[in-house]
Amino acid sequence: MDKKAEEKLEQLGAFEISNQMLTLAQKNEKSNIFLNAGRGNPNWINTKARAAFSRLMLFGIEESQRTIHESDLAGYTELNGIRERLEAFLEPDKNPSDQFLTDVLAYVKQLGLNQDEVVKELIDGIIGNNYPVPSRILKNAEVILNHYLQSVLYHGVELEKQTSLFATEGGTAAIVYIFNSLKENKLIKPGDKIAINTPIFTPYLQIPELNDYEMVEIDLRSNEENNWEISPQAIDQLQDPAIKAFFIVNPSNPGSKAFDQKALAEIKKAVAKNPDLMIITDDVYGTFVEDFQTVYSVVPHNTLLVYSFSKLFGATGWRLGLIGVHDDNVFDRLIKNLAAKDQQALAKRYDLVVLEPEKMKFIDRMVADSRSIGLYHTSGLSTPQQIMEVLFALTHLVAGKQDAYLETSKKIVATRYEDLFDSLGLPKDDSPENAKYYSIIDLYRLAEERYGKDFREYLTDNFEQIDFLLNLAQKNGIVLMDGVGFGAASGDLRVSEANLPTEDYRLIGSQVLELLAEYHQKFEAQK
Ligand SMILES: *Cc1c(COP(=O)(O)O)cnc(C)c1O
Repeated sequence: MDKKAEEKLEQLGAFEISNQMLTLAQKNEKSNIFLNAGRGNPNWINTKARAAFSRLMLFGIEESQRTIHESDLAGYTELNGIRERLEAFLEPDKNPSDQFLTDVLAYVKQLGLNQDEVVKELIDGIIGNNYPVPSRILKNAEVILNHYLQSVLYHGVELEKQTSLFATEGGTAAIVYIFNSLKENKLIKPGDKIAINTPIFTPYLQIPELNDYEMVEIDLRSNEENNWEISPQAIDQLQDPAIKAFFIVNPSNPGSKAFDQKALAEIKKAVAKNPDLMIITDDVYGTFVEDFQTVYSVVPHNTLLVYSFSKLFGATGWRLGLIGVHDDNVFDRLIKNLAAKDQQALAKRYDLVVLEPEKMKFIDRMVADSRSIGLYHTSGLSTPQQIMEVLFALTHLVAGKQDAYLETSKKIVATRYEDLFDSLGLPKDDSPENAKYYSIIDLYRLAEERYGKDFREYLTDNFEQIDFLLNLAQKNGIVLMDGVGFGAASGDLRVSEANLPTEDYRLIGSQVLELLAEYHQKFEAQK
């Protein structure tokens, strides 16, 4: 590819470039096996919750046939005695997923929930014969999912009783809904300063509305010199009340680092000085970090929490996400403090669907906004999706502290990370904050370390930053992602440790070195 074509390609987002490279890699010149380490989609799945889902579907069909049964047509389930009938249906001795469901019954009792009601919610949710009611999230689902978030993200801070949840179509919809409702409710206005911890998951940089805001990337930017950690001094800049909102991916993508206790303490200090600061934290990789603590548990009144089941449970096709918000929060407070004119306009906006629009909480406004308000009565995540979230969550809750599944997922990405860095001969970052779900290879630094400064300069001066990536795809059949699209520096390549068989990671390392050696030969030849 010539330099012009490469420049044009660089204008596209990281995911679009990656798509272009897939085609090149599939018919690579060396006829190597094609390896796509560009995407974050995991190559594992959770089987326990899925098996339980299908058992509950079968049970739900039997239950439905109790009230009407005429060939394929059945009736509705009945609450009375449903838990006992489920127990009679289950065969825990023969079937591990039935043992899991037996454990679930004991667990929900321990939570103080009514077992019959939980079973009916699970069954009806899976059967899917009613609109989601309440539309924001099903009743028992909210309690169970709150316990899950508390267990995996809050680091011992108890918030499960004060947190309201909204079940969404993945983290993707959660992000879209949040942006939209912040804007519609005039909590962020064109020209406002919004801080962001770059490099960051591209959608945060690509949402077109963002052009209306003044993006303050301040010095939260993490880079290789500081090991992709956010510096406490940088966080201090959030004390400026001109900064309205702070969008975080934690652990970050592509840096894969979580905020450490020092950074969390600085966030707390910043919020004390800037009490109206709105924080949105996307914690989809939180479970990959030992002793992870979310920003939500440090400054709960100021933070919207985004979670997704996609990564840990291998469930990107299901579209399973959550938004969490504290019952006493800055978003509701700021809406109450809006100018009278804005208040009136908003009252009119939500008046269509609620009797007292001025009392409508921000989280419920998000639910209404997600369906253009007019369709509020049919809003909400599909009930089978909600139950799938609940079952994934329960696999963890029932396992308690010994969650072998969660530990295995961490071990898988850590092994791949080690193999990759060993084969590249690069130092590893084994700090507890490193999620190792992704890693960043600084190509220019690698070039300098192996062949010296002149070679580094030759690479940066003579080639577009994506030239190496394109050749890696075209010649060697390996697709990595350009970090520039995430706001990283030129030459930063993102490798996903999630989506290829473990044995391929050494191969990726050796192929990167092989291609680099070819560039070096060219460099020597032209000297
Ligand atoms: C993968 C990813 C998401 C997307 O989550 P979905 O639930 O699959 O929509 C959100 N945020 C970040 C940072 C991600 O990496």
